[in-house]
Amino acid sequence: MAKFTPARGLEEALARMLAPAVHRIAVQVEIEAKRLAPPTKRWVTMGDDKVRPTHVKAQGQEVPENLRFSINSMQWDREHRGLGKFTYMIEPRDRTSRAVANLRNCRCTTHKDPDGIARTINSGQPVVTGKTVTVTVSAQGPMVVEAEVGTVYPGNLVAGGAHFMAGGAAIVAARR
Ligand SMILES: [Zn+2]
Repeated sequence: MAKFTPARGLEEALARMLAPAVHRIAVQVEIEAKRLAPPTKRWVTMGDDKVRPTHVKAQGQEVPENLRFSINSMQWDREHRGLGKFTYMIEPRDRTSRAVANLRNCRCTTHKDPDGIARTINSGQPVVTGKTVTVTVSAQGPMVVEAEVGTVYPGNLVAGGAHFMAGGAAIVAARR
């Protein structure tokens, strides 16, 4: 009776052989995820003495494009529009935030950074552990998880996910 026994260390040797190929796949996922990643947007005031305090506080706030700015609510909106501590705006003068006072006469703008999220995406080096090759593609930065999967703000304001990581992986998987 014959019994096949793989040469000692064969599977480990195979894993090491496959590591560069796995790494190449990870780099492709990184490239596609960066291409799909949403821009970030930054709240910009006119910077003069007419800017209301709630927007002075928002100056420079940066969030992924598919999410909302968190702006301190104005007293009138809290009393008459049922808003809480924060007003969640897609952009300045955003009526979907349900604010009124916090929008009136606002002159603020936004500045977009096309690579704001893409810059946070990286692929690591392959790690061979026994018979397994692992390469991690990750996005690390403020609100990248919410940018990927979406979130729900108080008042049931839904922000859809951009799914750039899942989308990047799906594109590369479909090529194989
Ligand atoms: Zn403003």
